[in-house]
Amino acid sequence: MDLGLHGKVALVAAASRGLGFAVAEELAREGMKLVICARGEPALRTAAQSLRALGTQVIEVMADLSRADDVARVIERAIGEHGGVDVLVTNAGGPPAGPFEAHSAEAWHAAVRGNLDSVVELVRGVLPGMKERRWGRIINVTSIAVKQPVDNLILSNSIRAAVTGFARTLANEVAPYGITVNNVMPGYTATQRVEDLAQSNASQRGTSVETELARWESQIPMGRLGEPREFAAMVAFLASTRASYTTGASIPVDGGWIKGLL
Ligand code: NAD
Repeated sequence: MDLGLHGKVALVAAASRGLGFAVAEELAREGMKLVICARGEPALRTAAQSLRALGTQVIEVMADLSRADDVARVIERAIGEHGGVDVLVTNAGGPPAGPFEAHSAEAWHAAVRGNLDSVVELVRGVLPGMKERRWGRIINVTSIAVKQPVDNLILSNSIRAAVTGFARTLANEVAPYGITVNNVMPGYTATQRVEDLAQSNASQRGTSVETELARWESQIPMGRLGEPREFAAMVAFLASTRASYTTGASIPVDGGWIKGLL
């Protein structure tokens, strides 16, 4: 299937590693020009170099997505140097684990800034250009927690739901402009984030990382964690010209972890 993405521009947020990097790689393989950002410079540089090795143009911008001025700088570079953004993939590091009483008011605000405000500000930056060109794809990395909250992740469970409400409403507003808005919900996927969560659970329960990973795997019908590239393939399809009639959806890539019918 020709995804029709060659020569278009994608902005992939938080793409120095993990799911964001896998998405950037997949879109680079489709011939897209890229803008990537993350906080840590060495990892961002290395990521940009390996994407360039796939033969694509990459702009890397060091940015903390929880800061609106940093997000504005990312957008400015994307528009200034690539002429606009056709595909936006919103993403950021996940909020800390822990039960309600472990999180201060400031921790809540920080999580909202990182995982909700960053989505809103990225969209605010790219939408005028997409409307003008009457084509665009907005894809948010959320979580299986939207369908089935995950124990010990109250910050993530709450904020992903807010992103989903935002996206579902925006989808209707921008559909007349040929812009789709969808969410992809990763299940347990082999990245540093999952390693960190397993470590946090292991310390709380006095078990080991291996025990925690095995416990999750036993809840997944596929019997294993996902690979970042399996997640990225779904994002690439939703980004494509072929995915022109799917909008407002939340699609799991979770090896069957969500047990509900819809
Ligand atoms: P990861 O920790 O492996 O990578 C996170 C990336 O985000 C890194 O590139 C990091 O530099 C960047 N980042 C973090 N905070 C940032 C900030 N404030 N500004 C800019 N960049 C920032 O995580 P991942 O597994 O790739 O997860 C990506 C998202 O998907 C997270 O929100 C995570 O909670 C969510 N998610 C992941 C899984 C999973 O199993 N991996 C499951 C459900 C949801």
